[in-house]
Amino acid sequence: MAAANCARWLREDGGEGSILLVGREPDPPYNRPPLSKGYLQGKESREDTLFRPDEWWDEQNIELLRRTSVMKLDTAERVATLSTKDEIEFGNALVATGANVKRLRVDGCDLDGIHYLRALANSDAIRAEAATRKRAVMIGGSYIGCEVAASLTAAHGVDCTIVMMEDVTFESFFGDEVGRFFQNVLEEHGVTVHGGQELDHFEGDGERVTRVVTKDGLELECDFVVVGIGVTPDVTLARAAGLEIGEAGGVRCSAGLESSVPGIFAAGDICEYDSPIHGAPMRIEHWDVAFNQGKTAALNMLDRGIEHDVVPYFFSDLADWASMEYVGPGSGEPVVRGSMEQHDFTAFYVDDGRVKAALTVGRSDDLEHARRFITEHTQVDPPALADPSTDLGSL
Ligand SMILES: Cc1cc2nc3c(=O)[nH]c(=O)nc-3n(C[C@H](O)[C@H](O)[C@H](O)COP(=O)(O)OP(=O)(O)OC[C@H]3O[C@@H](n4cnc5c(N)ncnc54)[C@H](O)[C@@H]3O)c2cc1C
Repeated sequence: MAAANCARWLREDGGEGSILLVGREPDPPYNRPPLSKGYLQGKESREDTLFRPDEWWDEQNIELLRRTSVMKLDTAERVATLSTKDEIEFGNALVATGANVKRLRVDGCDLDGIHYLRALANSDAIRAEAATRKRAVMIGGSYIGCEVAASLTAAHGVDCTIVMMEDVTFESFFGDEVGRFFQNVLEEHGVTVHGGQELDHFEGDGERVTRVVTKDGLELECDFVVVGIGVTPDVTLARAAGLEIGEAGGVRCSAGLESSVPGIFAAGDICEYDSPIHGAPMRIEHWDVAFNQGKTAALNMLDRGIEHDVVPYFFSDLADWASMEYVGPGSGEPVVRGSMEQHDFTAFYVDDGRVKAALTVGRSDDLEHARRFITEHTQVDPPALADPSTDLGSL
């Protein structure tokens, strides 16, 4: 996503040099969010997920190489070596290698029917399971686990169970109260949730997974499993190229997204940049961040000298049961405005009298104010924030 939007903005902002986008996947750049939502539900087609239609790349004079890896980046000689053995000279480069899913290493982890979700083919494989099998267990109670459980239940009638270490879904991101709201939504629609449970092992019939067993001895019969336990930034190429790696495991970048080597930029899931908004290094795994950082990197390749000062934004849907939007990241005491019961609320996360983040269900307009509070470090009065009669614009 970051690389595609970077290529787009290089052209859109007048870049006339040659542009080569190298990706190891078989598909052209596409949006991953539908893979656990509309695409998994069968509501969106493969074409719908694409960043741009196939002909667009030629029209823009952007060369696109699929099924091709960059094996080496020589930052001194400015040469990229590809898996095809071609050596490509470049002036500027963007490294946007994304993230890899974390994998479980427990007994039975190699059984058939255990899925991870990152690429289109993974979503296809899960959908194929849902067409013929009826009971699924999700390992992990965060975005992937919850979104997939909702999609499989709503669109395919699969009987879904979530097993997670947290006590309530999304707890580590949004805290107990808001996390419980989403867990209630899932449970009201028939998803079973087991919190405070650590996976011990999988059991099978010799070939396929048939049972999930937790350390507490909970045993869940299943026909397939989807694991969503997080990702790690893929900095293999960047590290080998000698780019500085930060404490959050990403490529250490300036506020303009330039790495430790001038002219080499990073964006998206691997980018650990000096956030002018947060006043600290940040690495964020959101679609919107990858998209916007691709643009910032492009403009800076064109010597615009800008800082990446966009407040990170995130969205997620649990089928059509509930949608959330979030700006942040940051933690604090949630101050809730509106009604959770009516699916119409915003939780502002307040720390030391300042809004650090906000999550909304059904009140998108509140996020505009939250962005302003975050960027301007506004001192807010929690009771006024919670009072629906307060005009947020006046704060
Ligand atoms: C199922 C799913 C649902 C999601 N839903 C949401 C959501 O609702 N909201 C949200 O904000 N975010 C969501 N995300 C996260 C979002 O999609 C990512 O943050 C975003 O894709 C990151 O973009 P990126 O460009 O950094 O990396 P990626 O999109 O991962 O792209 C990196 C690409 O680089 C390739 N690559 C790696 N190394 C090399 C190499 N050496 N040579 C060539 N190619 C290489 C990879 O194969 C990959 O194709 C979701 C992610 C998934 C998987």
